[in-house]
Amino acid sequence: MEIKITRARRKTLSLRILPDGSLDVRAPLDMPKREIDRFLGEKADWIETNRAQVLRDRQLGEKNAITAEQLETLKDLAQGPILESLRAFAPQMGVTYGRVTIRCQKSRWGSCSGSGNLNFNCLLALAPREVLDYVVVHELAHRKHMDHSAAFWQEVGRVLPDYRVRRDWLRKNGGALLARVG
Ligand SMILES: [Zn+2]
Repeated sequence: MEIKITRARRKTLSLRILPDGSLDVRAPLDMPKREIDRFLGEKADWIETNRAQVLRDRQLGEKNAITAEQLETLKDLAQGPILESLRAFAPQMGVTYGRVTIRCQKSRWGSCSGSGNLNFNCLLALAPREVLDYVVVHELAHRKHMDHSAAFWQEVGRVLPDYRVRRDWLRKNGGALLARVG
């Protein structure tokens, strides 16, 4: 992440995420660098959450292809929430999973192999968290049913009663996002 520190006549430090995802820091003239670093460390969660939001808003409003560099950033941003979601839902659903891979692909949001290895699309970093959770639950439900049978959807609905709303988001916004992966 690019961090730009500007010294100014001010008493406190301020942080702002710029539209390109870089961090704009305004610091008092005499504040030591290590104090700025310590502050940034304390604010790491805030920075990550807001940065993801800024990038998401920006991406959703665009139509151009997503660059290779942006895809790498999305991969990084998607990893934390996907792993967190897997750790939360797998025990709840009573299933296990193997290797987790995050790919930037234009075809699918996720997949589950017969041996339980999971694939997720890095574009999930641009989707609302509820939608990311839906894709995770969908793939985990394939650990019980390797098809899209009524029993499969029943399992998804047991965990996420409002899964249709989440799936609709993908149907409405997903195609345009996938189309922008080169
Ligand atoms: Zn499926």
